Amino acid sequence: MTKGALFDLSKSSILYGMQCEKRLYWHVKERASATPPDAATLALMEEGKTVEAEARKRFPQGVLITAPSYHSAEALILTQAAMARGEQTLFQAAFLHEGVFVRVDILDRLPSGEWRLIEVKAGTRVQRKHLPDVAIQYWTARGADLRVKRCEVMHLNKECIHPNLDDLFVFTDVTPRLADVQKTCSALVKRFRNVLALNEVPARDMGRHCRHPTACTFEERCRKSLAIPTVSVFNIPKLETRIKWELHRKGHVQLSAVPAELLTPLQRRMVDSTVMGKRFVNHNAIARAIAAWKAPLYYLDFETISPLVPMYAGMHPGDAFPFQFSVRTLVSDQVVEKAYLHEDPSDPRPALTQALLAAIGSIGSIVTYNRSSEKGALLALANSATKPAALRLRDIASRLVDALPIMRAHVYDPAFGGSFSLKDVAPALLGLAYDHLMVGDGQAAQRAFMRLLSDECPAEEKQTLRSAMLRYCGQDTEALVRLSAWLFAQSAA
Ligand code: SF4
Repeated sequence: MTKGALFDLSKSSILYGMQCEKRLYWHVKERASATPPDAATLALMEEGKTVEAEARKRFPQGVLITAPSYHSAEALILTQAAMARGEQTLFQAAFLHEGVFVRVDILDRLPSGEWRLIEVKAGTRVQRKHLPDVAIQYWTARGADLRVKRCEVMHLNKECIHPNLDDLFVFTDVTPRLADVQKTCSALVKRFRNVLALNEVPARDMGRHCRHPTACTFEERCRKSLAIPTVSVFNIPKLETRIKWELHRKGHVQLSAVPAELLTPLQRRMVDSTVMGKRFVNHNAIARAIAAWKAPLYYLDFETISPLVPMYAGMHPGDAFPFQFSVRTLVSDQVVEKAYLHEDPSDPRPALTQALLAAIGSIGSIVTYNRSSEKGALLALANSATKPAALRLRDIASRLVDALPIMRAHVYDPAFGGSFSLKDVAPALLGLAYDHLMVGDGQAAQRAFMRLLSDECPAEEKQTLRSAMLRYCGQDTEALVRLSAWLFAQSAA
């Protein structure tokens, strides 16, 4: 423990240590070398905050311990004062035991004077990975002389239906399941303290544990130190993670060193194409696949979101709905785009459905890239629409065709880097890049949408977001138009 510090281990540090001692060491000593969170992680963090805010509403008498964790002494004093005042419920109560500092999401006083320790989770069930998290809090709080009667995980109830959010949460008592970690807490703390006393980072090979139970933020740093090439065995599509690491351990990290018998024909093609630096195209197979596409062709892309706290009527936690689309089609030899972006907190489904039905005619195939997500969005819209609109939406869903399986089965370019995502295929084949876009992927679009709905978002920022979102979704359909033209050209070659 550094001189003057109240604690040297937090709950997060212990959880990281349980995953990998190298992660713990860097997290405590060289945190700045972690990779900053990407759009997907930021979206998850924001969603977690929304769920926690909803959880707190279930305890209207709750008192927030406002001091941040880097003011641990103040947080501890405020916690003790709130308990001494006889407060019923505390949010972010702080406890210290044997140099371990924790914050508890919700602490609720029982009639007996004992306490319920509640951990809020942004999911619809208790997972095994949640248990050490709660167990460390339990061990610390009890060690700090708190009389904890039981520990509960407060998670979302997938049966809950908007607008009645009274049963949004379920409380699951996990106390009996914490015994194993409880018993080992003291030993873990001692072990991790020894790790932190080392002058050098502990040795640990990369492996499956780097993504379980959580994705390690030092993966980039570890990969660099292992000199893993930009395209390696780790880029082979649909190859089991276990086999990838096994190959790595045997020194077969270069694609050219992978034994052929381990690979499926698709994986073999990716490896051969990359090693030889040669594009693979099966012209006849492409011609057969796109022969079923019927004119006039439409090109469709939705942006969807699946909020854990349901936002509109009839939705359960995690139900997806579209908030934006782009449709392109050919009108008198000109490609025309029709786009829709929902920009206010009202239910987007009626207006979006109306705009979509106006944009797509009653005949012709609708080209997508990964049909299942567009189909899911159309069926979600149909479930909330009037009968005639639902019929038309289902008809549109039945006319979807998919360019992704054609690419996967019949095309490979070394620049794909093992990925068939449109964001990798479009730059490689069409020179259409995504990396310069302000909103450049689905998660960034979701964050932008939520920001657009916020009262705190200034008008100028809204305008910037709006343009960026329209540009991003529009680029996906532009890529689809150009990819289809490329496929037709290949089929005729
Ligand atoms: S990437 Fe893996 S090996 Fe490296 S610190 Fe993280 S968990 Fe440990």
